Amino acid sequence: MAHIITDIDGVQLKLSNLDKVLWPVDGQTKAELIQYYMSVFPYMLPLIQLRPLTLIRYPDGIDGNRFYSKNAAEFTPEWMSHCQVEDINYLIIAKKADLIYIANLAGLEIHAMNNTCSEMARPDTIIFDLDPSEGVSFDIIKNTCLELCYSLSELGYHPHIKTSGSKGLHIYVPILPIYSREQIIQTAKEIGNAYIEKNKNTTLKISKEKREGKILIDIYRNHQGQTCIAPLSTRAKENAPVSMPLILDDMSLIRSSSQFNILNALEYLESQQPWKDYSKLAVRLHNAKEEANEISPQISQTTPTLEVYERKRDFSKTSEPSGIKEDPDLKKGNRFVVQLHDASNLHYDLRLEENGVLSSWAIPKSIPTERDIKRLAIRTEDHPLPYINFEGTIPKGEYGGGTMWIFDTGDYALTKKEKDSYRFQLTGKTIKGEYILYHTRENQWIIERKSDVESNNIMPEISPMLADQSAVVPDPERYFYELKWDGIRLFVKKRGNQVSLLSRSGRDITAQFPEIAEKILEMKAENVILDGELVSPDEKGAPIFANIISRMHTKGKPTSDMTRRMHPAVLYLFDMIHLDGKNCMTLPIEKRREWLKAVTPVSDKIRMSDTFEDGEGLFAAARNMGLEGIIAKKKGSFYTAGKRSADWLKVKVRTLIDVIIIGYTKGKGDRSSLFGALHVAKWESDHLVYLGKIGTGFDENKMTDIYTIVKELTVTSKPIKDNVEEEYNSIWVEPKVECEVQYASITPNGTLREPVFYRLKTNDE
Ligand code: MN
Repeated sequence: MAHIITDIDGVQLKLSNLDKVLWPVDGQTKAELIQYYMSVFPYMLPLIQLRPLTLIRYPDGIDGNRFYSKNAAEFTPEWMSHCQVEDINYLIIAKKADLIYIANLAGLEIHAMNNTCSEMARPDTIIFDLDPSEGVSFDIIKNTCLELCYSLSELGYHPHIKTSGSKGLHIYVPILPIYSREQIIQTAKEIGNAYIEKNKNTTLKISKEKREGKILIDIYRNHQGQTCIAPLSTRAKENAPVSMPLILDDMSLIRSSSQFNILNALEYLESQQPWKDYSKLAVRLHNAKEEANEISPQISQTTPTLEVYERKRDFSKTSEPSGIKEDPDLKKGNRFVVQLHDASNLHYDLRLEENGVLSSWAIPKSIPTERDIKRLAIRTEDHPLPYINFEGTIPKGEYGGGTMWIFDTGDYALTKKEKDSYRFQLTGKTIKGEYILYHTRENQWIIERKSDVESNNIMPEISPMLADQSAVVPDPERYFYELKWDGIRLFVKKRGNQVSLLSRSGRDITAQFPEIAEKILEMKAENVILDGELVSPDEKGAPIFANIISRMHTKGKPTSDMTRRMHPAVLYLFDMIHLDGKNCMTLPIEKRREWLKAVTPVSDKIRMSDTFEDGEGLFAAARNMGLEGIIAKKKGSFYTAGKRSADWLKVKVRTLIDVIIIGYTKGKGDRSSLFGALHVAKWESDHLVYLGKIGTGFDENKMTDIYTIVKELTVTSKPIKDNVEEEYNSIWVEPKVECEVQYASITPNGTLREPVFYRLKTNDE
């Protein structure tokens, strides 16, 4: 096989010599190497991205010649990620194709720096490389490693362990990238010295004689230009081992540093997710003095506290604000924003303007709406000021991927500020009240509401918005459409763990539908009022109105399992009226629906009523499925509670039928020169079956045309036996003229309900 061309996320990549054996003892090939990197890429990227690399290439396998390279070669393709630092053009990894390109070069060892290329002088990791000399058992290395990790934890760090893939173990300690390299080396030395004092079989000295029989704690990987084997990089050692990130608790299971290799690494990664919060666990140096001394302003281009923000994001992919410099004039601002963030877990983000940036906390379970309610708040990186206006969707796979909406904004007034706590008054459009926010441990804080709230602001009394009728499907430019569900209108109220289901008239029917109430508890919001329709579908999904009604009327008695099985209920939700203290009625319907979707866990019991752009198509589908009709909703419209509004229009499915005119009533008033209504019937074998009287659907022109024809017909005696309305005023004619009529349904005595004249049929039809 000479080579193949493959497409990796839009990059055309030429892979060559795939069957080349790179590890001769067990015969692992380049194809297997590439396969390995393809599969571990998602785990590897966060740990290696944008770090300047040194590669060791083995084009003829681990026994052949090796080539060190850090400067990108001339033949490097244009799309390959790189960064220029002084006179070196480093290869870096920013996308999958970058890694696969390196694999294709037989770059069996990928060594990376403890800094990203935009921050050469400010490492984000302290590395301790535990390197045993000959004869030291792996158990002793493990113990040393665990002891050193323990000392690091005591100092407030989050040490991470990986195998070297050779003999030793590596400890990586994430830190905020706000310190100079000298400070970091100094700190590593202090920690290392304190440790070797207690543990005489360890040393910081690199020279062969000094380390004889000992474990070298190598802190020189933290020096300028140094690298260390990257997490998940392969090694040019027998059996294709990899440098494997581990969970601390799994250390007891590790028997050697080369235990993980390209064949068994993925399974461990998938089941244990080691190092998954690596960068989130970055902390300050334990021995750093004042914050102000940590930062030498001439080095950093952006606001120093925004470095983490910038580092976490790829601004070629996300539309979040970037490259914002600190503006000293803005230091005194006092705005706040609460954003609703539909990331992997729906949460709120609270941001307070402070020192020219937005101090930020993620609050998983909503800003407390009632007095003395406490919620966990996770401190997140500072955000730049323009973020206060940010609404948009961060692409999936990017940091914070998902949609961000502004939930509320306004001013805050600090009433008390201490190092680890804030007390402040929020004055927003929605949120008004006093809160305290205090630090507990690591990145965890607590937010607590300290002022009372009017109960009606949390769960106001609201009645449903009602739809007008329309005979035609309205304009798709101005409306979107939903199916009209043939069931009962349901208002859902959830306040904490209390759920009530209310019928249109306000009757509490929670007890009749316990399985729905149970599912509402899974809503990803504390307090909500929702609008929907409760239906009981048959096996094909078509709603059976009678079934849902019969369940609704099982008054008092608890609903039996049997009833639930026979008449299963499904709630179709279509609107959100209230969310965590915010009145949503004056938000456009599109946003109400987006928020509804974000908080609703869809299941077999609770679904979203889907929207459609093609009203005529949906109407035809509703007709074919035997459904009641469709609802058209005006784009951008508000929720007008308790009122019938033309913003919502129901268009009912009506049936067309061919009928025969058998008579008419004489006109009165305006219609005195014409007829009043038509009597119609249909043939059933040899006799006529009466279908009723049609008095609407024609204007004066149509009536004139019809009258011209029917008055020419021969007058007969009454051709049917039924009693008819206005019989005294009726004229019967020979059944010769056909027309088409629309109607809603058939009444129990066989006549048409809501019949409307449609058109005369011509003789040719
Ligand atoms: Mn967030």
